Amino acid sequence: MPENKNTSNEQSSEAVHRPSTAKLASYPPHEKWDDWVEYDSRSWPKKVERRYSLVPTTCFNCEAACGLLAYVDQDTGEIQKLEGNPLHPASRGRNCAKGPATINQLHDPERILFPLKRVGPRGEGQWERTTWDEVLDTFAEKIRNALIENRRDQVVYHVGRPGHDGYIDRVLQAWGVDGHNSHTNICSSGARVGYALWQGADRPSPDYANARFILLLSSHLETGHYFNPHAQRIIEGKMAGAKIAVIDPRLSNTASAANYWLSPWPGTEAALLLAMASVILREDLLDREFVRRWMNWEEFMQAERPSLPCTFEAFIDEIKEIYSEFTPEYAAEECGVKPDTIIEVAREIAAAGSRFASHVWRSAASGNLGGWQVARALYFLNALTGSIGTEGGVSPNVWNKFVAAPFSKPAPQKVWNETLWPREYPLAHHEMSFLLPHLLKDGRGHLAAYFTRVYNPVWTNPDGMTWVEVLRDESKIELHAALTPVWSETAWFADYVLPMGMGAERHDIMSQETHSAQWISFRQPVQRVLRERKGEHIDFTYEANPGEVWEEDEFWIELSWRIDPTGELGIRKHFESPYRPGEKITIGEYYRWIFENSVPGLPEKAKKAELSPLEFMRRNGAFAVKNGVYDQHQSRIAEADLEGTRVDEQSRILKPAATGEQVLGVMIEGEPLKGFVTPSRKLEFYSKTMIDWKWPEHALPGYVRSHVNWHELDSKNNDYILVPTFRLPTLIHTRSGNAKWLYEISHTNPLWCNPKDAAKLSVKTGDLARVSTDIGYFVVRVWVTEGIRPGVVACSHHLGRWRLKQDEGTDRWASALVDLEELGEGRWRLRQIEGVKPFKSEDPDSERIFWQEGGVHQNLTFPVHPDPVSGMHCWHQRVRVEPAQPDDKYGDVIVDTKRSHEIYREWLQKARPAPGPDGLRRPLWFSRPVRPVDEAYVIGDE
Ligand code: SF4
Repeated sequence: MPENKNTSNEQSSEAVHRPSTAKLASYPPHEKWDDWVEYDSRSWPKKVERRYSLVPTTCFNCEAACGLLAYVDQDTGEIQKLEGNPLHPASRGRNCAKGPATINQLHDPERILFPLKRVGPRGEGQWERTTWDEVLDTFAEKIRNALIENRRDQVVYHVGRPGHDGYIDRVLQAWGVDGHNSHTNICSSGARVGYALWQGADRPSPDYANARFILLLSSHLETGHYFNPHAQRIIEGKMAGAKIAVIDPRLSNTASAANYWLSPWPGTEAALLLAMASVILREDLLDREFVRRWMNWEEFMQAERPSLPCTFEAFIDEIKEIYSEFTPEYAAEECGVKPDTIIEVAREIAAAGSRFASHVWRSAASGNLGGWQVARALYFLNALTGSIGTEGGVSPNVWNKFVAAPFSKPAPQKVWNETLWPREYPLAHHEMSFLLPHLLKDGRGHLAAYFTRVYNPVWTNPDGMTWVEVLRDESKIELHAALTPVWSETAWFADYVLPMGMGAERHDIMSQETHSAQWISFRQPVQRVLRERKGEHIDFTYEANPGEVWEEDEFWIELSWRIDPTGELGIRKHFESPYRPGEKITIGEYYRWIFENSVPGLPEKAKKAELSPLEFMRRNGAFAVKNGVYDQHQSRIAEADLEGTRVDEQSRILKPAATGEQVLGVMIEGEPLKGFVTPSRKLEFYSKTMIDWKWPEHALPGYVRSHVNWHELDSKNNDYILVPTFRLPTLIHTRSGNAKWLYEISHTNPLWCNPKDAAKLSVKTGDLARVSTDIGYFVVRVWVTEGIRPGVVACSHHLGRWRLKQDEGTDRWASALVDLEELGEGRWRLRQIEGVKPFKSEDPDSERIFWQEGGVHQNLTFPVHPDPVSGMHCWHQRVRVEPAQPDDKYGDVIVDTKRSHEIYREWLQKARPAPGPDGLRRPLWFSRPVRPVDEAYVIGDE
């Protein structure tokens, strides 16, 4: 609590104007968490004490998993606020705006408190309250029948925000279904494929705090991707003297704080990066020793330059030649960035050497056809400068993430689900989730039981009206439950809406690659923990949550138990307690086992604190497993593991003699080292995988001209490139609607438009513009700003929420009431009846709403654009911008789903389908979520 020598309640006016003598404690000391005293801010200037019990949990409002501390008022028993947990190794007590806004979500008067079942036709919005028993029995029967009849590709779990590290994988594998579907291909598959081709791991873990030069192709100090933990460390690096460069056609907050803002034409970023690589090569600024040891140059020389001597010098000559076409002058012409700037940044990168940190996530890698080459070109700079695995550089994400193993691991499933992994996309990093409605329309399958879980595809995905058409169709989806903490546009079209806990109402473990360390964070249901601490017996978290809000972990245990009550399907055993044989596991036992058995160092640390490992985590909320994790590729393979291994003569990789399959590492100058998790165990500059899978022209880092290539814009026709991939850092993808503070801060998504373009279009700030895509148009307000490159317009997502009924559906803090009309077959019009308005509720703030428009739902007008390699939806659009027409209204959206299906088919033609070598659906070395047995990778004779 604040220490203030002035104990008088009545402060004199002189005191008010003096500098404060109070000593503010940064954070409540841990030993006082059970009984913390603060003055009640609302009673100011009187000093009224309030006593709190502080319980740590983990934020659920993005994937960063920052620590939170819930302040539970000892008088009322209510959570009063949530602030940062100072013991959390990544967030260190700090949060972004979205963390503390968890309190809004808990107290949202609009939230769903009981399970709902539809009573009219799907999408008509007629609901009745039902029981959890009815929900569980209905789904258990449906799933059980599918399993017994071996329809193991008809049960699908589709996740937006996972919030855990693998909990559901275990459940789905216990059921034996290939049913994991994610949102990743509308999010980050582009970058993931680029990184995975280099190093196996699909992400970098930049060590920003120790970097000397930081290059970012993401906005807002990496909005939304480990946002707060990374932002802290980028600023630390900057304060220690690091320079920052941002590549973004839009002046993001990050760009505004950077030393260099490079604003290229969208889609040309890979050319820009390769020009920097070319400068480093031409000026001989590379780290030769690192490249010689760790790039797979021998493989390239042997395969592609057999007539040349296989020497490192010959290789260097060759790559200089290959990238010589990417001159700064060429890049300036292609990208629209000055050649001197390209040279200057390249030299800065080289000067930083092993302390060069970089990152691309979403952004250019998710906007463009071939966006995966952006990540590959960026990592090329790290490889050339030897800044991989180093202090101040980047490491494979897997080095800095700790995934704790649970008490039982079911065997991998034996099936392959082609509606999630169609054979056209063998290299797709994740499931082709955004194509699901098109694949179902094409008759490639149907779903018996479908769970959308913290996922809102109608609103988040491109082509949402096609989702509406398929979600309404019971012949394609028999039974659909939306597991969600908040109303969504998708939930409206479900059969069941099942309320799930917020960040302070559920259990999960998470870990992320926020810096050069490994840690875990524990999310826990605050009220349950406190009540149990007082000795109360609680069987299920919903008993302590408001209404009948369940936590998902318990839902999946209960459902699994009911699918296989006797154990005959082999499922039940995975949900029996490791402590009470034959009995159903409790959620406390699940985490107790993990903390006792799977987290190195935790039991010892807990013992020192005289706590059980579970109680230690309940009281601390997070645990640092390892610090200073660098250089793992150079780890020597243990002598014991070397026994019986053999070294492949050509590649020098180490294989165990027993199976001849699994590679252990690679011999580097006589030393057996672990290397990277690629086929060569080196950084793969040259990808034989790309050749084997029919993309020989992309064997090396390269440049693919985007589908929104600026050369093809017809400026006379007012063609522009629309960048829709950025968001406001205060909003959560699809779950801000129940956070009033966040909407108070950010509630509109105007079209960014350069003054030159505004003059050409005769529009000014506040005017309405019509933005036409290939399947329709949307009507939005214009914001004229120098912060966007001429020829490019940009519109933030995360806004434009809507609901179809006055008092029900998407939260009224955020949504417009709309009329959704089917104008003809496949022709849809969404029009606002009224915008966001004040409303009466038990929260008086709801009558103080001052924002009105709430944004425009642009994603509805985007057709699907699956990248033929990465499977990523390529978000950028070529659009026509014009002043709105007389009948246009703010927020209007018109789309044609017949046309969107045609475009889906056109993009399908770009694919180069499996099989690849050995009749495989996908390279065996590529990671895959919820991986099936190897045999399932082989395409059969069907
Ligand atoms: S960065 Fe993400 S996890 Fe951290 S406080 Fe913000 S929303 Fe929560």
